[in-house]
Amino acid sequence: MVERALVKKRVLVVEDNELNLKLFCDLLAAHGFETDAVRDGRDAYGRARAFTPDLIITDIQLPHVTGLELIAEMRGDAALASVPIMAVTAYAGLGDEERIRGAGANAYVSKPISVARFIGVVNDLLEAGPVGDSPPRASSSAVA
Ligand code: MN
Repeated sequence: MVERALVKKRVLVVEDNELNLKLFCDLLAAHGFETDAVRDGRDAYGRARAFTPDLIITDIQLPHVTGLELIAEMRGDAALASVPIMAVTAYAGLGDEERIRGAGANAYVSKPISVARFIGVVNDLLEAGPVGDSPPRASSSAVA
């Protein structure tokens, strides 16, 4: 507990809906994480590079830049490629989840969120640490 208080894990939240953004950041803060919030997808990439998060949580339905584009952009950046990404979206179709994972997200949580699942996935991703150390699971991960 003491160690966790001294070295807070950093979570960047990209979400254009004010209520969801506050909910996610409040939940994360209550669980001892340091958060930074981005409302406009166009700001996410620069903020991620500046904040150096341990985890990125991103909405998929964003104005200007979609979450899928953001994920792909971060996966293509040497400084961000190993940061776990959790996608959060209201659209929970099977094809959507495949596209989200195909873009490079490591986990997917549907909205409206279950608080327990949201925090559970956050903890799982942070405990697993940086991504890309082990070979990717068999999937259509053809890199464009
Ligand atoms: Mn949205």
